[in-house]
Amino acid sequence: MSGRSLLDKVWDAHTVRELPSGQTQLFIGLHLIHEVTSPQAFAMLQEMEARVRFPERTFATVDHIIPTHNQERPLADGLAEEMMVALEENTRAAGIHLFDAKSGHQGIVHVIGPELGLTQPGMTIACGDSHTSTHGAFGAVAFGIGTSQVRDVLASQCLALARPRTRRIDVTGKLAAGVYAKDVILAIIRRLGVKGGVGFAYEYAGPVIEALSMEERLTVCNMSIEGGARCGYVNPDDTTIDYLRGRPYAPEGDAFERATRWWRSVASDADAAYADRVELAGDRIAPSVTWGINPGQSVAVDERLPLPGELPDDERSAAEEAYGYMGLRPGEPLTGTAVDVCFIGSCTNGRISDLREAARVARTGRVAAGVKALVVPGSQAVARQAEEEGLPEVFRSAGFEWREPGCSMCLAMNPDKLVGRELCASSSNRNFKGRQGSPTGRTLLMSPAMVAAAALRGAVADVREVL
Ligand code: SF4
Repeated sequence: MSGRSLLDKVWDAHTVRELPSGQTQLFIGLHLIHEVTSPQAFAMLQEMEARVRFPERTFATVDHIIPTHNQERPLADGLAEEMMVALEENTRAAGIHLFDAKSGHQGIVHVIGPELGLTQPGMTIACGDSHTSTHGAFGAVAFGIGTSQVRDVLASQCLALARPRTRRIDVTGKLAAGVYAKDVILAIIRRLGVKGGVGFAYEYAGPVIEALSMEERLTVCNMSIEGGARCGYVNPDDTTIDYLRGRPYAPEGDAFERATRWWRSVASDADAAYADRVELAGDRIAPSVTWGINPGQSVAVDERLPLPGELPDDERSAAEEAYGYMGLRPGEPLTGTAVDVCFIGSCTNGRISDLREAARVARTGRVAAGVKALVVPGSQAVARQAEEEGLPEVFRSAGFEWREPGCSMCLAMNPDKLVGRELCASSSNRNFKGRQGSPTGRTLLMSPAMVAAAALRGAVADVREVL
């Protein structure tokens, strides 16, 4: 008999029972909430006259709607203020811990969970947000849920779910200089497609993944959902355990050693069976940029854009639609395409290591005339660390704006929005039509270092030529 994957071990350990529908009633170890998807769930709970079953397993923060310019209360936007007040009242009434702006730990939900040590290997983690897959970097089974499922977790700490199949993705070799975790996940999604992962959990493995830091693994897992996967994870190892030691919510002393044994035990067995296996050559991954309206439409920065006729039949009409929307020309390279806005931040790439890499680039020049460039730390802890290292000054003196933590221009549910047809070089995770706040705004996804390079050149540039 073959061994088991992490997905199967964690799933089995959290199974309450198998339901007649064929789904599993799965216990959720950690539930994360924010201001956008929780108010309705709390309202539904109230209607049911139910209470929060395990308040100590839910943690809240504010991220989507919080402005990054001025976070003073009451917020200038009345609706945003209302959502903040609702979250404060709901969490207070239920006894749920809220990391608000006064706490010193506020930030994007997928940034603060890991940095606080709330996210741990072997857990099941749910959050009313698509990018909950981020937490899989620790060897957790983590997925986004809808509002009625947020209600279900609040009421019962359980969800009815179908077990995904597991696809192992090995990234071999070694990354070249100027190639980052963002390029790895863009290359994976380009190869497997934005729907290629439907019904799957992605297990990321191989020498490139093993060599990544925890923050880089978070970037890879963050975009699993963009490849259609239910969740994505990396098996816990020494890197995971070293990262967790000393974090505020990680176990301490003997309990940490006991937890370590459990964490290591949930890693996939060497002879685990997978529904599918894929291999990518890490040495061949180049700095990547999206050119279309989904994250699978990307090229290496020095590659020309594909002609629709060269693409597989099922990608052709999406490519034509993308070219129509983006105003880019098939057959031409993206390098040199003028950008209006440059955004460094988000739950994909708003961590300290991202800001350090972007700052390395920012030190080499000044933001080009006419370009608006924003740096938005993913959390207050990231901002503090950046301040200790003098990064805000590096960015400011190069002409970038340094902002307060939040989701900012990733989704633009706050004042940071594109205007008209502006083209934005962005370190976020979605390039959908209108994603960054203007119905006609356009997004090019890339690594934070590449965004910084675009800011200095005023156009898409190859970071390898800047560093
Ligand atoms: S940074 Fe973007 S993708 Fe991440 S939680 Fe915020 S809005 Fe969602």
